[in-house]
Amino acid sequence: MTDTTAQKTASTIDQPIIELIGMHKWYGDFHVLSDINLKVARRERIVICGPSGSGKSTMIRCINRLEEHQRGRIIVDGIELTNDIKNIEKVRAEVGMVFQHFNLFPHLTILENLTLGPIWVRKEPKKEAEETAMMFLEKVKIAEQAKKYPGQLSGGQQQRVAIARSLCMKPNVMLFDEPTSALDPEMVKEVLDVMIDLADEGMTMLVVTHEMGFAKSVADRVMFMDEGQIVEENTPHEFFDNPQNERTKLFLSQIL
Ligand code: ADP
Ligand code: MG
Repeated sequence: MTDTTAQKTASTIDQPIIELIGMHKWYGDFHVLSDINLKVARRERIVICGPSGSGKSTMIRCINRLEEHQRGRIIVDGIELTNDIKNIEKVRAEVGMVFQHFNLFPHLTILENLTLGPIWVRKEPKKEAEETAMMFLEKVKIAEQAKKYPGQLSGGQQQRVAIARSLCMKPNVMLFDEPTSALDPEMVKEVLDVMIDLADEGMTMLVVTHEMGFAKSVADRVMFMDEGQIVEENTPHEFFDNPQNERTKLFLSQIL
């Protein structure tokens, strides 16, 4: 490797894996996201919180183009999100997403849910896809459920399956949109534990959650959104113990 190649590789690694620059989004006339600026470094864990309707889901959905932005730039691992379908596909291959409602296919077994994407999108041989799927099901401690259907599993188990399904696509970044907020309280921990393991392994994670214990133990930074803007960000310690913005203070007083 020449010096220039080495330098180039190093600078690529130093680049943020996700970058939003002056990003705006409207739903019709409604200005839902306003001047969003966000840089996420590789291996960084970011927690996003904020009141309902503040634009958290919309922002993370823009990052894998489930929603389109109208102004500013979104760059994921050096790929700019434009209307170019090739770029959209490339970005989606990098970014895994886990939703509040697990979005598993009810008529497919757990194993089939996990191998569908790898076989049809990544063109992996079935056997290889199944081996990978079983490995990730073990990782989320649910391998014994592989032959069952989603409806036969608890909410916490289904969400762990949804995380494993995302991991089967070998993403470089994982986006989580309130992954535990539809779960019964006794199931929240089993899902958070899986997410903590993932963080410990160095996965880059952007997590919308109000689970403050998770934020405190895992996040490098916590961001607060309100009315379509990121109004405050800080380390978890400073964010929770010493919030600066009045809206953050009000929000924290309501949830803590
Ligand atoms: P959050 O995830 O913080 O609760 P959302 O991103 O879901 O917020 O929504 C932000 C705002 O955008 C809300 O006022 C919501 O009603 C509105 N909104 C969300 N999705 C749509 C849509 N598809 N069309 C129009 N308005 C939407
Ligand atoms: Mg939301």
